[in-house]
Amino acid sequence: MRGAFDIRRDELANLLSDEPGYRTEQVWRGLWERGVLPSDMTDLPKGLRERLGAELEPALHEVARSVSSDGQTTKWLWQLADGRRIETVLMLYPDRATVCVSSQAGCAMGCGFCATGQAGFDRQLSVGEIVEQVVGARRQALPRRLGNVVFMGMGEPLANYERTWSAVQLLHSNLGISARRITLSTVGVVPGIRRLATEALPVNLAVSLHAARDELRDQIVPLNRRYPLAVLMGACEEYLAAKGRRLSLEWALIDGVNDTHRDASELAELALPLGAHVNIIPLNPTPGYATLGTPAEGVAAFRAWLGNLGVNATVRANRGTDISAACGQLASRERPVALRRVAPARAMQASVIQASAAQASAAPNSPTSATLSTSG
Ligand code: SAH
Ligand code: SF4
Repeated sequence: MRGAFDIRRDELANLLSDEPGYRTEQVWRGLWERGVLPSDMTDLPKGLRERLGAELEPALHEVARSVSSDGQTTKWLWQLADGRRIETVLMLYPDRATVCVSSQAGCAMGCGFCATGQAGFDRQLSVGEIVEQVVGARRQALPRRLGNVVFMGMGEPLANYERTWSAVQLLHSNLGISARRITLSTVGVVPGIRRLATEALPVNLAVSLHAARDELRDQIVPLNRRYPLAVLMGACEEYLAAKGRRLSLEWALIDGVNDTHRDASELAELALPLGAHVNIIPLNPTPGYATLGTPAEGVAAFRAWLGNLGVNATVRANRGTDISAACGQLASRERPVALRRVAPARAMQASVIQASAAQASAAPNSPTSATLSTSG
């Protein structure tokens, strides 16, 4: 089944070949400018609306919509045509809005601290399934302009390269969203970064680093065993040289794991030569990972260490934690996040991280019962 946003303009013209010439433009503008699906185009004759509605179905069916207590963050749970589920998050700011989209149903990368990684991989999203998330969010954001699109929802965008890139091109050409306002976040899929460097559109690149020495990163981010830091940093350099865009390094601050002065110095050594900006995200709680985010004073200390070392770093606000819409919390299943605090996290060993990741990959899709440690 083709989604409404999978169709090209010439294909639409073919579908409408027995209609007056202006119809193609009318339907095209309805889709891309007004963000309306054919079945809701009340300006079309009923018969045509029904025919088009049956041929070009929506790719996303809303299962649930949650709004944060301050009303500024909305999370959708969508069902796809085959029953799989994905999530999209819209964040409102005073004068603009940002949407965080999913690129895959689930994720195969197995990062133990991430709810999507804990649930395992379902399938790649189609171009239309990606684009329709943005179209829906743009309509919801009105009267604010949808300023930014970040591929930081479920999935690894560079492991679904072709479709992600086609979606980026459509956002640029058909929705008028400049490439400079689109950010692809990757856990470090090096061939994808190299390929991005050859594309015409200069999108922003965010690399989820979380550890700046291989020994630790191997445990936090399993993909590091395939593309270790030296190789990853080389690919980032290539991207910068080709595109001249600013690189961001993402750092989920995990209590007692990657929040020491040593971690800050190692991070500075990688960030400084690349002129990279560091985004610190205190780890958001997820059901299947046995530790929590660094407490506020530790976060402030980590940022200050980076600042003293000359690194430009900001702490990213945790938007939507009360509706499980924050970074890494998207899990596509409506299940409660139950956290139990039991033991000091400072005592957590790397083996716990490995056990957690192994558990996630050994039993994908099964709900995990959480026993969380924390120093608090
Ligand atoms: N797969 C891509 C994009 C989706 S994840 C990637 O990993 O970059 C988007 C961001 O959320 C990444 O920076 C990821 O490291 C971060 N993240 C995942 N789980 C998190 C958690 N529990 N708390 C905070 N950030 C998390
Ligand atoms: Fe996948 Fe990114 Fe989550 Fe890792 S952090 S499991 S790459 S979505």
